[in-house]
Amino acid sequence: MTAAVLVQNLHKVYDNVHVVKDVSLTINAGESFGLLGPNGAGKSTTIRMLTTLTVPSDGQIVVAGYDVQRQPTEVRQDIGVVLQQTSVDGDMSAWENMEFHGRMHHIPNPQRQQRIERWLDFVGLSDRRHAKVKTLSGGMKRRLQIARALLHEPKILFLDEPTVGLDPQTRRRLWEIIRGLNQQGMTMLLTSHYMEEVETLCDRVGILDQGQMIETGTVAELRRKHGEGLVMKQRGDRWDYTFFPTLQDANQYLDQQADKTGMMTRASNLEDIFVELTGHNLD
Ligand code: ADP
Repeated sequence: MTAAVLVQNLHKVYDNVHVVKDVSLTINAGESFGLLGPNGAGKSTTIRMLTTLTVPSDGQIVVAGYDVQRQPTEVRQDIGVVLQQTSVDGDMSAWENMEFHGRMHHIPNPQRQQRIERWLDFVGLSDRRHAKVKTLSGGMKRRLQIARALLHEPKILFLDEPTVGLDPQTRRRLWEIIRGLNQQGMTMLLTSHYMEEVETLCDRVGILDQGQMIETGTVAELRRKHGEGLVMKQRGDRWDYTFFPTLQDANQYLDQQADKTGMMTRASNLEDIFVELTGHNLD
């Protein structure tokens, strides 16, 4: 099977600062992959290189079977991109933004009109089609960006921090949309510094820190590898964490302690693993 995304030994150096260091990654067709890391880890730079927007300093990227540096036009036809900065035009209506993108991609009528209808409906913006984009809420603008990215029917969707700055309810609405697309077979790569977001949306996760991919796997695999159970012990204003293979093992350890003051157990999560690997928090 051809990988949807194949990245080998990718590097990016900006003004002598090495911001992406030897990243390798494979994403299979239909998979939803999450790139998790704190601000400044190199997530946006990586996604920009994968989507032809930034030239790599070294390494190879193949997207939808095309080499990103040698065949950027072919790559762009097969990908949809939703970046952090809202790139929709505020003075145009939702429909006009879609129309403009459809024309840029040379989608003829009647398909163009049908697809605009379909994707505005999919993201729940049909009734706001004639509203100027500047009058839409942040969540609606993000939904419009997603609808627009889907108009030329890409095979792979890239989303850079899709819910950053949005309230929890709006975030959940977007999660439903993103999950729905993946269930329809869309391959996706999304970046996030929200652990819950990648846990909810992604089949597999890559942990990026200071430009390096320090771990990849399913959340279940990562928890099995690092420990599914945790014993937490309060020391002053901080907590010490000790991983155990299972939550049962963690509970057994706690039971055996004569003094259980300030101690508790719980199941481990992705953020615990991130902190264990890097020594610092996600944000
Ligand atoms: P993330 O998306 O994980 O927050 P970025 O990829 O945006 O991280 O940034 C990684 C590092 O690269 C940061 O230190 C950032 O300041 C630097 N960087 C990003 N874009 C540029 C640029 N165009 N020129 C110089 N440095 C940049």
